[in-house]
Amino acid sequence: MVCVAPGEPAMTTRRRSMLGAAVVALAAPSIVRAQAAAAHVVVVGGGFGGATAARYLKQLAPTVQVTLVEPAERFYTCPFSNLYLAGLRTWESLAHGFDGLRRAGVNVVHARAEDVDVARRTLVLSSGEQLRWDRLVLAPGIDLRWNALEGYDEAAADRVPHAWKAGAQTRLLRRQMEAMPDGGLFIMTIPDNPFRCPPGPYERAAMVAHYFKQHKPRSKILLLDAKQNFSKKALFLQGWKALYGSMIEWQGLAQDGQVARVDAKALEVETVFGSRHKASVLNVIPPQKAGLIAHRAGVTDATGWVPVKGENFEARQASGIHVVGDASFAGPMPKSGFAANNQGKLVAAWLAAELMGLPSPEASYANTCYSLIGPGYGISVAGVYRAEAGRVVDVPHSVGISPLDADAAFRDAEARYGASWYAAISRDIWDR
Ligand code: FAD
Repeated sequence: MVCVAPGEPAMTTRRRSMLGAAVVALAAPSIVRAQAAAAHVVVVGGGFGGATAARYLKQLAPTVQVTLVEPAERFYTCPFSNLYLAGLRTWESLAHGFDGLRRAGVNVVHARAEDVDVARRTLVLSSGEQLRWDRLVLAPGIDLRWNALEGYDEAAADRVPHAWKAGAQTRLLRRQMEAMPDGGLFIMTIPDNPFRCPPGPYERAAMVAHYFKQHKPRSKILLLDAKQNFSKKALFLQGWKALYGSMIEWQGLAQDGQVARVDAKALEVETVFGSRHKASVLNVIPPQKAGLIAHRAGVTDATGWVPVKGENFEARQASGIHVVGDASFAGPMPKSGFAANNQGKLVAAWLAAELMGLPSPEASYANTCYSLIGPGYGISVAGVYRAEAGRVVDVPHSVGISPLDADAAFRDAEARYGASWYAAISRDIWDR
């Protein structure tokens, strides 16, 4: 999920296999054979980044004690939640449990981490329990910046869902779509970068359009965007038009698309230049920041995200604390489930090596993001990254993006690759 300018090269088979090689190299270092000291690593967050780090650390260093702290007994993924809105996936198909991690030897504790004492290396849980850690991995994902848009606070979200964390919010949005009369106006507001899943809002627009096309064909979708460019823009504009005609209208920064105020009661928004829009269904995706526990640990900076070292995702502001996934700020690497999984593997390999006194693995990262525009119509973007002078940087010429002029067979293949990706990553992290 990299924002790529139109006209960048299509991904070649060679690049795809390079991505695969980078991931495999991280997933199976030879250090597995060595013996680890009996250290305790606590991982906070059982989503894409945290559950990956916990599983792979236990696999690479079986004698290390690994505890995963996650309040939910079933994790519902944001990836493919747009397909649930479209009616193309069931709700339960997005759910994943933690028995597989338990079978792999990870001690899974269903509680919320409330506080971190960095000096004493302890974590306080909602159960009252305290965990002592030798290394801490934080993967809490995002929190929403309430009131960054005037009038949009936690209470407003009960009427105007963000649906940017999968769960009750996603189901509320779907119920509102079902209740909306044919001919209604669905408005989505989209924040400036950086935010979770750069192509996510645009895939959501397509999936909502798919639902409307089946059930409420006179309806319209208006996207009010705080920026002018977005991930896979040319491909989205082309796909929306091909499948949904004029149903989706996008207004960027230059078209007065930046929203400043939300009136949840009236289902109205006001832009920075004072234009007002009234919705039948209003979906506000507000600006975001790292999950609260990262702030409690004191590892965030003024941006609200956690700056990390490129070679091992250790927080710049605290040694022994690694932060993976959306909460981290990793330069050009997007906030995606694919990226979080990749970072989790790197941190697992790095910690395993560190705790066993072995040489550190070389940091190499990859991301691929598939988006579905309609059934049998998929697009993707991919990139490769490495550590350089303490930062994560792009590997030159590694970006691959679906071609604009692809035929129907190509789009269909990408839709199938996207579905395979979801099945494969779910199995890699939770479902085995
Ligand atoms: P999460 O996966 O959100 O996991 C965080 C976990 O931490 C949660 O389970 C939470 O309960 C837990 N947690 C938080 N605080 C605490 C605490 N204090 N104590 C204990 N646990 C805590 N990415 C893709 O790669 N492909 C896609 O197709 C894609 N589609 C998307 C579609 C949408 C609509 C959205 C919103 C996102 C999409 N993403 C996609 C992005 C992806 O969901 C995120 O990038 C990914 O979930 C980040 O992983 P993470 O581990 O950082 O956070």
